[in-house]
Amino acid sequence: MQVRRILGPAIIGLGALAMVGCQTTEGRNPGAAPQTTAVRSSSDQSEADRAHSDIVARFGGVYGNARVTGYVNQIGQRIARVSEQPNARWTFTVLDTPTVNAFATPGGYIYLTRGLVALAGDEAQLAGVIGHEIGHVTAGHSSLRRQRSTTAGLGLLAGAIGLAVLGVDGGVANSLMNVGQTAAGGYLASFSRGDELDADNLGIRYLVRAGYDPYAQADFIERLSASANLQARIAGGQYDPNRVDFFASHPANALRTRQAIQVAQKQGAVTTVGANRNRDGFLRSIDGMVYGDSAEQGFVDGRTFSHPKLRFTFTAPPRFTITNSARAVLARGPSNSRFIMDGDRNRGGRLSDYIRGVWVPQIARSVRVGQIQGLRDERINGLEAANAVLPVRLNNRTYDALLVAYRLNGNIYRITGLAPRGSGLLPAMEGAAWSFRRLSSGEAANLREKRIDIVPARGGIESMARRMNFREYRVERFRVLNGLRPGEPLPRGSVKIVR
Ligand SMILES: [Zn+2]
Repeated sequence: MQVRRILGPAIIGLGALAMVGCQTTEGRNPGAAPQTTAVRSSSDQSEADRAHSDIVARFGGVYGNARVTGYVNQIGQRIARVSEQPNARWTFTVLDTPTVNAFATPGGYIYLTRGLVALAGDEAQLAGVIGHEIGHVTAGHSSLRRQRSTTAGLGLLAGAIGLAVLGVDGGVANSLMNVGQTAAGGYLASFSRGDELDADNLGIRYLVRAGYDPYAQADFIERLSASANLQARIAGGQYDPNRVDFFASHPANALRTRQAIQVAQKQGAVTTVGANRNRDGFLRSIDGMVYGDSAEQGFVDGRTFSHPKLRFTFTAPPRFTITNSARAVLARGPSNSRFIMDGDRNRGGRLSDYIRGVWVPQIARSVRVGQIQGLRDERINGLEAANAVLPVRLNNRTYDALLVAYRLNGNIYRITGLAPRGSGLLPAMEGAAWSFRRLSSGEAANLREKRIDIVPARGGIESMARRMNFREYRVERFRVLNGLRPGEPLPRGSVKIVR
């Protein structure tokens, strides 16, 4: 949840605009030359132009570190110049989100998250992922995406359940939808594996032309995979379907790595393997960049969400997993239950009147609702609050929606606990909803952003890992961040730690 977005104006939905996602590739001859186009369709271009600010807002805003954004733009423009569209307009954006992802829209807009930038090991790896995304644009994959976008999977449905009940504007709906869609391969899966392989091939082509080591792309795919696996372990042994990341739909990608290497080998004849990597320049550029959650968007710590700038905290019910987005915090629980927090602009009057007069009618616009039950004003943790239970009908199933509104520092905060009737989850929802409270200034001050620190490699893995500012998985995190396989010793030179 982002300070500047929480009470902002409604975001216009993206409509049919294609977002180019990434998944695994298989089943195509890796040596086949992909089709490319030198000219973009003007409708694709104008649609992507219109969508740009919406996408940026939805994925956490632009990361405000000029050194990092300037560096990414410089690499991007270098790769674009050797593509089939050297004179077209290319826009490279680093998104202020800790998730690891990259995508493109047909107008030459390439988006990388700061989580992805932090994970790369050198400039050539970053150039490889940028080249892959440019490849989606030059191969003209977007129109394919649009035709297939009607085949939304289970994840879309799961996302919609939470959203419809929120009764929120399309922007929030879309941003949460993306979370759901990604889980089911929705907005990513609309590209075929062949398209992904084409994008890999084109990315390698551009690496070679720009004088980078083409093996960098396979190296980075390996890092992405190691990162996804570690995140899954940290989340409790299984891959967390809420995560919006590069391999959300296909965590296993050994095949894609092998194919990227084959392509690199085929093209190795025209380039020097081990050519330009620019590791030092890359590490210098990312030194000090924010890692993980930011103070602007709030911190997730297990089931607890805390926002140091908006000054509140709450803990989701047991067995729920939190996903933070620009305008809402969504937690998924057992039996398709949802626990969602968002905000609304402050309005005068009692909060029970707000629930009855504003919130419930919003919900009723998108789903069938029953009679509101137990509506009352009260004080919870010293805050003005009101709560009620609203039966809602979704996908032929009845849910009890716990609605709790709080007023804090001139904002209204809303918690929706969506429990399938008969699931017995409502008491846990209530306990969690009532955990919402003001954050003290001391607590807020203790919520500190973590940063990447580039330091000389000294001693062994263990002693370096002890400097990682995490309570657990320090060795594993250190290895993944630095691209070290299990058992691989500490390299010479500089390494990344998180402080
Ligand atoms: Zn892709």
